[in-house]
Amino acid sequence: MPVGAGSAPEPGPGRPVRIGVLAVQGGFAAHLKHLGSAGSPGIEVRTPGDLEGLDGLILPGGESTTIGMGLERDSLCEGLIDLTGRGVPVLGTCAGMILAGSKRLDLIDIDVRRNAFGRQLASFETELAIPQLVGPEPYRAIFIRAPWIERVGEGVEVLAEVDGHPVAARSGSVTVLSFHPELSTDDRIHHWFVEACREASSGDANRSPMPDSTGQG
Ligand code: GLN
Repeated sequence: MPVGAGSAPEPGPGRPVRIGVLAVQGGFAAHLKHLGSAGSPGIEVRTPGDLEGLDGLILPGGESTTIGMGLERDSLCEGLIDLTGRGVPVLGTCAGMILAGSKRLDLIDIDVRRNAFGRQLASFETELAIPQLVGPEPYRAIFIRAPWIERVGEGVEVLAEVDGHPVAARSGSVTVLSFHPELSTDDRIHHWFVEACREASSGDANRSPMPDSTGQG
């Protein structure tokens, strides 16, 4: 059914949310596809103006050095920092996680090791338990030259680990994943993110945009 052309969107469940996907380099097209199937066609972000009015933003995987240079070239860093500071949900995947934890953006207090799994494990899939994002059923995660998290700062919650290394974490409205949900046929992470963005934008700025943790600290 077409979304109410010309009329103001109603608040509450089903309201369209504006989720941007950084489209400087890397896997943005696959994220846009998943957002579409999760009911929220995404918006390509290439200029500072594209960040205006967003309810959420995805930083995709790709080549973090190239994306970082593109962010500087296109004057996107300040806008990203400002958007995150306003509590707009951000999801960084793989290279996006590296950028989110970088000194330049510092969207989340983590140190990240690039290509951490080494050559032999350049690409692999494994099942993860991430109840906060996808519920009780395990999630089959796809890793490609993936980073892991070396250090988490105060207030950063680790959501999943591989061999004792954190590969998913969040702090406030910023969530980072070492793997590629956009390459999976399992849409649960995009559905979760769309809902998190909808909730964050629905007016109660004091409420956490993310579901509560399991209380394990
Ligand atoms: N290894 C890449 C980097 O360091 C990230 C890989 C990815 O995003 N799939 O930028």
